[in-house]
Formats: sequence, structure tokens, C-alpha cells
Amino acid sequence: MSTIQVHDKFFIPYLSEEKIIEKVKQLAERINSDYKDKRPLFISILNGSFMFSADLFKFLTIESEICFIKLASYKGTKSSGQVITAIGLDTDIHGRDIIILEDIIDTGKTLSQFLPQVFNQQPASLKIAVLLHKPEATVHPVDIDYTCFSIPNKFVLGYGLDYNGLGRNLSQLYQLKEE
Ligand code: 5GP
Ligand code: MG
Ligand code: MG
Repeated sequence: MSTIQVHDKFFIPYLSEEKIIEKVKQLAERINSDYKDKRPLFISILNGSFMFSADLFKFLTIESEICFIKLASYKGTKSSGQVITAIGLDTDIHGRDIIILEDIIDTGKTLSQFLPQVFNQQPASLKIAVLLHKPEATVHPVDIDYTCFSIPNKFVLGYGLDYNGLGRNLSQLYQLKEE
């Protein structure tokens, strides 16, 4: 597999679909075991998390519910620093066991701004599951409970993650090619 072009930029293959699915399956197995006597409510953060959330859900064997919110902070390949709530939380989370699903934690700003809204509604418990984490980029520390991959501070694309709207359909992850 080789370099691809999306808009004006070039990307190289980074994580294969097989590797991603294997990790997502392992994560689901951990959640199946950690929540075996519970009925968690997943909050999936759109847009980027849709593919991760869908694949994870197929491997869950416990009773579970899911709802979606939409937060946005990215412009192109850089975080704009401003987090916009495009679709808010419409589900009662009081007393529920919440698991937040996020595609990637980069600066941590998106989640650190959203978490107080969740705590305010007093869930019974709260855990965070992410597909990708960029530890070197994180400036707003977030307590992550489940991480599929820790990755270097480079822009990635595919498996739900976009570059200016494109690339979400790619079934594997790509990394921005150095100029
Ligand atoms: P943060 O607020 O943690 O800086 O960034 C959160 C959001 O920015 C992520 O949920 C994701 O949508 C987007 N983002 C961060 N890093 C990347 C990246 O490397 N590639 C893509 N496509 N989106 C990213
Ligand atoms: Mg996201
Ligand atoms: Mg994006």
C-alpha cells in the first residue's frame, strides 16, 4: 500500500485495518468483563468516533446503550482551540455508568471542556475510552481509562478521522507525510 493524496496533502499508511480491529476487539472484551453486571451508556463524540464506536459496539456482549453528541475544534490539520457543541447531550445520564468514546485525544481541550457537563449530571461512574492518544500533544490532561493506541504527535487520517471533511471512509489509518 502506498502514499495517498487528500486535498493538497500526502499521507502514508500507518495502522492497518487488521491491527485496529484487533485492538478494538480487545477493548470490547475488557469492557465486557469490567461491566458484566452493569448496563453502561456510551456517549460517542461525533464526527470522528463513528467508525470506532460502530466497530466496538459489534464486539460488545453486555447490555449497553449508546447516544451521540457532536463537538468540533479542528480546522485542517491544527486544533483551532475553540470547542463548539454542534449537537448536545439529550439523554438523561444521572445515575448511569457512562463510557465516553472519542476517536483521538490530541491537546485534550475538547474532552476537558465537555467533562464538567457530564459530572454536573452526576453519573454513577465515568470512564473514557479512546482509539488514539497523542501524549506529547496533550496540554489539558484527561484521565483516560482505555486507550487502543498511543501515537506520536503527527496528524492522522482515516477510520473516521478526516482532513477538511475527507478521508473518513478509509478503513485504515494514515499519517501525514513529512514535506
Ligand atoms: P483535542 O481537543 O484533544 O485537541 O482534539 C480533539 C479532536 O480533534 C479529536 O476528537 C479529533 O476530531 C481532532 N483531531 C485531533 N488530532 C487529530 C489528528 O491527528 N487527525 C484528525 N483527523 N483529527 C484530529
Ligand atoms: Mg473527536
Ligand atoms: Mg476533524
